[in-house]
Amino acid sequence: THAHAEPPPAKYGGRHTVTLIPGDGIGPELLNHVRELFRFCCVPVDFEVVNVNSSLTEEDDINNAITAIRRNGVALKGNIETNHTLPPSHKSRNNLLRLVDEQGAVSLSCTHAGVDQPQKQKAVQSTSWNCSHLYSAISVQSVAPVTSQAVQTAKSYNALLTFSFRKAKQTEKLSRRHAPVRHSYSYVWSIGGFYFLVIRFIAGLLWNSVCTNSCLCLPLSSQLVSKPQQFDVMVMPNLYGNVVSNVCAGLVGGPGLVPGANYGRDYAVFETATRNTGKSIANKNIANPTAMLLASCMMLDHLNLHTYAAMIRGAVLKTMNETRLHTADIGGQGTTLEVVQSIM
Ligand code: ADP
Ligand code: MG
Repeated sequence: THAHAEPPPAKYGGRHTVTLIPGDGIGPELLNHVRELFRFCCVPVDFEVVNVNSSLTEEDDINNAITAIRRNGVALKGNIETNHTLPPSHKSRNNLLRLVDEQGAVSLSCTHAGVDQPQKQKAVQSTSWNCSHLYSAISVQSVAPVTSQAVQTAKSYNALLTFSFRKAKQTEKLSRRHAPVRHSYSYVWSIGGFYFLVIRFIAGLLWNSVCTNSCLCLPLSSQLVSKPQQFDVMVMPNLYGNVVSNVCAGLVGGPGLVPGANYGRDYAVFETATRNTGKSIANKNIANPTAMLLASCMMLDHLNLHTYAAMIRGAVLKTMNETRLHTADIGGQGTTLEVVQSIM
């Protein structure tokens, strides 16, 4: 029952309603471009905008947002600023969204022909589990020391693995239209042997048709940077997943390029894979819209609007080949608007 997040059926006239959370920094402008592009392509999606205010201390706004997401089953969001100077008892609004629903997180890093990157790499998909392990949000805080607990259960690891294999298979099926891929799965050894034993058992028993191997987190970190080609799908608990997906994003050209998604029991939330707000580049028309646009394509696939997803993704990737349109983060002088117009 975990992370299946069946897409909600379309409403009258075949249209879907999606909750849109603009977030902070570059979130609002990038999501405006998504809306503009969807209108331009006649995508049958209506957005219900819910603002979440990161400066409030009570959590009413985020609870309203969660209610709206539950109602619609799908959300597209910008990142919400987290005030890290507040005590650990203050929960990040991004995290509150992820915790109410047991979600698995996916991030898709893939190289683009026209983009210079530190490493040539094919697509790497990393998946992790949002709400258990070190993200179970169980912190016992007095003044000092602060004790954080990593919660590990066989049930949640079973869910993680099932989720990862299913998602990887779906991606494989979708991308097969363009080029055949054969995924191999690497799962990362976590604190203690428990994770390893459970994952190996489940992988061997239920998924013996796929090629899997395990890896310790430390050697993995160096291999990922020196020889990323050996990895296709990486499965790991949340903290590692977060670090590894950020490393993958760095390997393929940065946070402006990589989309991400969280699939839960009750709803699915789509956003950029690295969770930055980009406050310093907001409202300057220089942010790279690629990551957010590709996240919106993942959302369209989730809604079974595959033709729209493929059309927009194809245009985004084609535009990436045009070096003169590259935004500053990938070494060009193009503006956000120029990129979006070229995609249109
Ligand atoms: P800040 O909020 O201080 O700008 P973040 O940690 O949120 O910093 O983001 C780090 C940096 O990553 C940003 O300042 C920006 O340079 C870069 N970045 C993130 N997303 C994008 C994007 N979509 N396009 C271009 N640069 C980006
Ligand atoms: Mg920021």
